[in-house]
Amino acid sequence: MGRYTGPSCKLCRREGEKLFLKGTRCLTEKCAIERKAYVPGQHGPSPGRRRRVSEYSKQLREKQKVKRAYGMSESQFRSTFDRARQLPGVAGENLLVALELRLDNIVYRMGFAASRKGARQLVRHRHVEVNGKIVDVPSYQVRPKEVVGVTEKSREQASVRASLEALSRGAPVSWIAIDTKQVSGTVTERPTRDAIPIVAQEQLIVELYSK
Ligand code: SF4
Repeated sequence: MGRYTGPSCKLCRREGEKLFLKGTRCLTEKCAIERKAYVPGQHGPSPGRRRRVSEYSKQLREKQKVKRAYGMSESQFRSTFDRARQLPGVAGENLLVALELRLDNIVYRMGFAASRKGARQLVRHRHVEVNGKIVDVPSYQVRPKEVVGVTEKSREQASVRASLEALSRGAPVSWIAIDTKQVSGTVTERPTRDAIPIVAQEQLIVELYSK
């Protein structure tokens, strides 16, 4: 199955939590999770019986949540997992680290785009460079010490400027150093699980894919 192109907020409502797919809107009261905190398709919160949730269902929901948060298709997500599983260490943690080190995610974490979707677009449209060379592959794995930046020509783009202004809150994660003047940043080290700000039980994803 390809990438989901329907309404982003539906995905958050399906997972029952904010996945931050729409940039600044996610931080306002317009957020659909704030207004309609029930699964899409229902006509409001159902007061009926609580269904027992199977182990499989929990694993599936966790996988869908993480996959959707990073805006990936099933096949991309699965192959990222398969590669992560080959590496030494804990498979679930390796998966999250691989997702975090994707170029589109790094551009988002650096604050050059308001959402991962916006970051992917910047990369695809050749506005992003790594160590001074344009890279237009969103799945590119950024290595520690590599310098990721917005090309000089693209720095004045309105969406980049707006994101940078919102960035005055400072570096969003400890393992990224940002140079706002140069519109660039560096991954200072490979992140550890506790430095990745995503609420997920990645072990459930490992269990799901190990069946
Ligand atoms: Fe999710 Fe953002 Fe929509 Fe809220 S506004 S439901 S966090 S995508």
